[in-house]
Amino acid sequence: MQLVCLDLEGVLVPEIWIEFSERTGIPELRRTTRDEPNYDTLMKYRLDLLKKHKLGLPDIQKVIAEMGPMQGAKDFLDALRVDFQVIILSDTFYEFAMPLMAQLGMPTLFCHKLEADAEGFLVNYHLRMPNQKKEAVQRFKEINFKVIAAGDSYNDTAMLAEAHAGILFHPPQNVIDEFPQFPVTMNYTELRAEIDKASRNI
Ligand SMILES: [Mg+2]
Repeated sequence: MQLVCLDLEGVLVPEIWIEFSERTGIPELRRTTRDEPNYDTLMKYRLDLLKKHKLGLPDIQKVIAEMGPMQGAKDFLDALRVDFQVIILSDTFYEFAMPLMAQLGMPTLFCHKLEADAEGFLVNYHLRMPNQKKEAVQRFKEINFKVIAAGDSYNDTAMLAEAHAGILFHPPQNVIDEFPQFPVTMNYTELRAEIDKASRNI
């Protein structure tokens, strides 16, 4: 049995924090782990900002729903799910991703959780475990799945390496240069062709 594991942001939906920052006009939310390498500090900073701007979970979800998935993402995913079991492995949070999952036909998503207070403001986040993308692929292999994984960025490369076949999708140039072992695809047609090729070879 073959399983396809896909990253979410940058593959099926836009980068949520960046797009959210643009749509709400809060430039400070563009801050990433490149600017603040301590993830905990970064997340607390983001959650404080949301509260300061009086954005509770329903407001946030409304903005995220309006982003929509990337063009062609739903058709790509629907066709892929006919031929493979597909699991989305993401470092985002269910509360953010669900409005987008609804627009993608509710595929299976493994990610993390946020905690809201009684007023609906986000007060904390809970990572299910560290390195869950790679760990998940490792477990799927242990239960005898052949795994093909695709992602766009640094945080996917451990998952890509762990899988029987790893594919880059629309990655930045530095990731292409640093990980020449992975085939590079730039659109859904190419990605599907590369998944089918991997499927024949693993
Ligand atoms: Mg990504």
